Amino acid sequence: MSGCLFCRIVAGEVPSKRAYEDKDVVAFHDIAPQAPVHVLVVPRVHVATLADAPLDGAAPSIAAVMTSARRAADALGLTSRDGYRLVVNCGERAGQSVDHLHVHLLAGRAFGWPPG
Ligand code: 5GP
Ligand code: ZN
Repeated sequence: MSGCLFCRIVAGEVPSKRAYEDKDVVAFHDIAPQAPVHVLVVPRVHVATLADAPLDGAAPSIAAVMTSARRAADALGLTSRDGYRLVVNCGERAGQSVDHLHVHLLAGRAFGWPPG
């Protein structure tokens, strides 16, 4: 997906402040942080939304992306004592603005419930 912003960030064609990476994902700091820590965990392989992600083991694996999100939290030194939140907006109506699956990793403040 040559025109996709997050594919271009994964490829290094658009600069980002990387926080973590592994074979499945690149994680980088959000350009408009909504918390003191706001990192986007982005699979290297393009898929538009969570609802489009394959369930048959093909990449990007939802399980691998979530595992990598947890690894990113660990790499940032975040614990359950600190508290952190993972968010996936699926579709425009849920707040998704970039059509490449990503997990928001948010930390550094208290979070309310229900979400907005
Ligand atoms: P969504 O609204 O799709 O769930 O989240 C997309 C996120 O991408 C937003 O939080 C937005 O601030 C972030 N974002 C959009 N463009 C860029 C960019 O060029 N660089 C970075 N680092 N984050 C971006
Ligand atoms: Zn993409």
